[in-house]
Amino acid sequence: SETLLEARNLRKYFDVKGSGGRKHPNLLKAVDGVSFSVSKGETLGIVGESGCGKSTTGRMLLRLIEPTAGQILFEGRDLTQLSQREMRKQRRHIQMVFQNPLASLNPRRTVGELLEQPLKVHRMGNVSERKQRVMALLKTVGLNETAYGRYPHQFSGGQRQRIAIARALAVTPKLIVADEPVSALDVSVQAQILNLLKDLQEAYQLTYLFISHDLGVVRHISDRVAVMYLGRIVEIASTEDLYNDPKHPYTQALISTVPIPDPEYSGERVLLQGDIPSASEPPSGCPFHTRCPLAMEACKTVVPRLQESEADHFVSCHLYHKVEA
Ligand code: SF4
Ligand code: MG
Repeated sequence: SETLLEARNLRKYFDVKGSGGRKHPNLLKAVDGVSFSVSKGETLGIVGESGCGKSTTGRMLLRLIEPTAGQILFEGRDLTQLSQREMRKQRRHIQMVFQNPLASLNPRRTVGELLEQPLKVHRMGNVSERKQRVMALLKTVGLNETAYGRYPHQFSGGQRQRIAIARALAVTPKLIVADEPVSALDVSVQAQILNLLKDLQEAYQLTYLFISHDLGVVRHISDRVAVMYLGRIVEIASTEDLYNDPKHPYTQALISTVPIPDPEYSGERVLLQGDIPSASEPPSGCPFHTRCPLAMEACKTVVPRLQESEADHFVSCHLYHKVEA
């Protein structure tokens, strides 16, 4: 189906002061050459441990963080080439939902004011049309009309996330980037919000980029999943293929640690050793080699590339591709 968004070789390097009294700044390669595409109406999940670069990737798509290099093609148009003013207009089409809705909602504004604000910014409707639209949005996300005059702190975590979703929906976006949208919620509330997101996707033909450290949550909502490690995508496949037949030792390890083993899971059981290395001093060769139980000699020096190992299943690991030394 039709591609809505394509990220090409996205990079974000931050200058950081070296630790231990070093004078020269270090480069922290938070995102180091990430490419993927998202089709219209699809949900692409991005999963990985904290610090893997998944949030930075999501924010770069809206240029809330400026990419160091790479392209972001949205409906074929490269967003990295737009002026700040043009980019602000584009954000009508790409909205973001964050983990902690209270932090992104001004506590001194009523829910009505909060939801009307993006409509004002994008000059949508007059005063009464905006109020009507907000009332309809509250209903769409399962909130009572009385929410209009109340303040965010008067709501539960789940209700606040509904408010944040309504706010993102207000300007009729095509793509929603959701960064850990249910991670702060109780498990029962998580399911409600995930189901709401699914219903909204169907009703409004929305496309999602869904970022989370939680493999179960990502599995529940995604059509395809990309696994990130130290600023790179190490595997990307359909949700079914990724969870039932993970190829990369890192993905295998992540799935092995999910508490209830899937009876259909036929892949290896792998236990992770050691900690995630610092992104400012990434290992040579395969960035995973310091923790990989299957590492070979070549893994210390040769960087694996993301290549197709089976149809639509891409993996970055020398076990699946001949090492070109
Ligand atoms: Fe492990 Fe080598 Fe594959 Fe990296 S390339 S994941 S170190 S086997
Ligand atoms: Mg994050």
